[in-house]
Amino acid sequence: MILKVLTFPHPNLRKKSTRVKDVTPEIRTLAQDMLETMYYERGVGLAAPQVDRQIRMVVIDTRSSDEEGNPTMEDMTELEKKYSQPLIVINPEITKREGKTTYGEGCLSVPGFIETVERANYIEVSALDENGKKIEIKTDGLLAICIQHEIDHLDGKLFIDRISFLKSSKIKSSIKKHGYPERKQERRIL
Ligand code: ZN
Repeated sequence: MILKVLTFPHPNLRKKSTRVKDVTPEIRTLAQDMLETMYYERGVGLAAPQVDRQIRMVVIDTRSSDEEGNPTMEDMTELEKKYSQPLIVINPEITKREGKTTYGEGCLSVPGFIETVERANYIEVSALDENGKKIEIKTDGLLAICIQHEIDHLDGKLFIDRISFLKSSKIKSSIKKHGYPERKQERRIL
């Protein structure tokens, strides 16, 4: 089922999400709906609070597509390639961060805006998978950027909070005044 994605300035995007206590069939169904929604919206990742569920779960697929629309691992780093995607990540905790990288980030909850954001280049994350089993993800590349972006959502943070005050104020007041610009469909966003 395709779910409605909340957009800034919806106040529920600012809430801190709570940990998942039990990975129940309902949680697994929500994860599948989130994946369906993410692919429909051409997103690379989606966090539960974006579909108005304030729980610590994110879904991710950073693979790009070939000409026939099939997923390819072509642009991925060696570390990213180790993880089979899509990924369902529950209660993620970043246990290590190394280096710095920048990427032009967008967000399904702030559609139409792309800004360069600085993040850790390499991260280690402990989490649960959709079966409630402990997993560890050690990665760099777009996967590391995406995980950091999605964990921000779980803490009520958006990428526009991580850019300069001037740029952020401009975007926020433009959205509040004029709404969202026409979405450029060709670009996949976080
Ligand atoms: Zn986002």
